[in-house]
Amino acid sequence: MNILITGGAGYIGSHTCVELLEAGHDIVIVDNFSNSNFKVLDNIKTITSKEFKFYEGDVKDKALLEKIFKENKIDAVIHFAAYKAVGESVTKPLMYYRNNLDTTITLLEVMNEFNCHNFVFSSSATVYGSPKSLPIKEDFPLSTTNPYGTTKLMNEQILSDVATADPDFSVIILRYFNPIGAHRSGLLGEDPNGIPNNLMPYIVRVATKELPSLNIFGNDYDTKDGTGVRDYIHVVDLAKGHLKAIEKAATSKGVKYYNLGTGTGYSVLELVKTFEKVNNIKVPYKIAPRRAGDIASCYADPTKAYQELGFKTELTIEDMCRDSYNYIITKEKHLND
Ligand code: NAD
Ligand code: UDP
Repeated sequence: MNILITGGAGYIGSHTCVELLEAGHDIVIVDNFSNSNFKVLDNIKTITSKEFKFYEGDVKDKALLEKIFKENKIDAVIHFAAYKAVGESVTKPLMYYRNNLDTTITLLEVMNEFNCHNFVFSSSATVYGSPKSLPIKEDFPLSTTNPYGTTKLMNEQILSDVATADPDFSVIILRYFNPIGAHRSGLLGEDPNGIPNNLMPYIVRVATKELPSLNIFGNDYDTKDGTGVRDYIHVVDLAKGHLKAIEKAATSKGVKYYNLGTGTGYSVLELVKTFEKVNNIKVPYKIAPRRAGDIASCYADPTKAYQELGFKTELTIEDMCRDSYNYIITKEKHLND
């Protein structure tokens, strides 16, 4: 298939491009580098030894999308392009609604024009809000606590309405749990600007001594050791989930929802200890107050994705810790080569 990847230079998008190319698909990437850089595209080529088309620009730009669809016969779209920082979405809600909704609406309009009906969407476990029980199944009630999460839920609604209105449409909504890790080559990974908000990027910065110590947000939760529990999924496993989703989109109609997680929760302390052991390095930490809006535990029931997509994660929490660190310690090299 020839697949348009929006946000293909980003963290999850770039890993997905590698998996799609390695599986023999053709891809076209569109990205405006608002949270990525050009070097990522070279690194995708280095890993796969394959060529692909790239358009620099904004997915909200309808004329650009029409040009892409005119110049390429697109069979399916995977839509990663979005802003994703929860805290920033609280202070700049309009920026989040504009980017995360307009990109999808513009894409859907242009897909309609060009008779392309297969859509895979990057949603998030954040749409489950504070779940009443665990593990989380796809039919759990949905709610959100911040504008970023609301953009994901609104996108899900828009896509569901479009699939209802047009029986030719096939929409696969993937609700990611906590993606961490990096490509084994050290050429692709995650390295946020400024002080990281998420746990793994923060741990890595402490390990490299760019930050003095990790603040663990609360050790009095009702969890195995009192610290928050999440379902961490290796980004390469997550990327492979998109291959399965694309196959499903091509052979079904309507809207379908899948959790992409491992089904196992790890606590903050477990992640820190595993990171220290695998990388043979100390990660100093302090116990800090709970972070506003955090829930105690969140992990997926991955059964539906296994039964209907044949998706099963393979990489371990040790792989995630090793690869996250490896990417950062080799970063200077691959960004400057
Ligand atoms: P990322 O920021 O690394 O990648 C997003 C890419 O989209 C970037 O390359 C950015 O430059 C590009 N982009 C953003 N707005 C654009 C626009 N208007 N036009 C063109 N390009 C644009 O993020 P990621 O971690 O790879 O996340 C990918 C998707 O998965 C996002 O939709 C995100 O909300 C979702 N998601 C991420 C996580 C996570 O923890 N990383 C969890 C759940 C869901
Ligand atoms: N966390 C932490 N210190 C940090 C960042 C995160 O203790 O500096 C905890 C957080 O409270 C949560 C877990 O690590 O229990 C995962 O947080 P992250 O922000 O990575 O993901 P999310 O909360 O969005 O699932």
